[in-house]
Amino acid sequence: MKTAIVPGSFDPITSGHLDVIRRVSILFDKIVIGVAKNVAKAPMFTLEERVELARAATADIPNVSVEEFDSLLVEFAGAKDAHAVVRGLRAVSDFEHEFQMAQLNRELDDTVETVFVMASPEYAYLSSSAVREIAEYGGVVKTLVPPVVEDALKKKIASRKGGR
Ligand code: ADP
Repeated sequence: MKTAIVPGSFDPITSGHLDVIRRVSILFDKIVIGVAKNVAKAPMFTLEERVELARAATADIPNVSVEEFDSLLVEFAGAKDAHAVVRGLRAVSDFEHEFQMAQLNRELDDTVETVFVMASPEYAYLSSSAVREIAEYGGVVKTLVPPVVEDALKKKIASRKGGR
């Protein structure tokens, strides 16, 4: 069984993430989406919400599962018996950070290979932070996220406004 981890913050999962996940789901026997607990900035969605949304958005892909993790990525990969970590690359600007992370992870465990997948052109501009910002200002995110995430964004923003 060849298993790959697709790690990230997924705050929230977008059509760009889903595109990468679908494309690699046919290359591996199993894909585990690893939702990182540790997000540098305060996330919009809680860890549980980010996991739930990723689960709902990938429910139709049989070999994909979603789990949270709060450890070194290579440790999480080891625990899942995965020897590949998949990251998406959107632009040259992603490269430097990704290159550094891949080298560090190799240093920590050289049995785990980082595999890069180029973003599809239609999603190359798409990020979770852009989605959050557009939604905060009432913009249309329909083409950027799956319907379950669109609903969750509306609810989250309405509940925050109600709380103010
Ligand atoms: P992180 O906080 O680890 O960057 P993200 O949830 O923002 O987590 O992204 C997870 C992975 O998905 C990263 O490898 C990122 O480059 C990739 N990614 C994000 N958006 C896209 C997109 N639109 N197309 C392809 N890959 C993407």
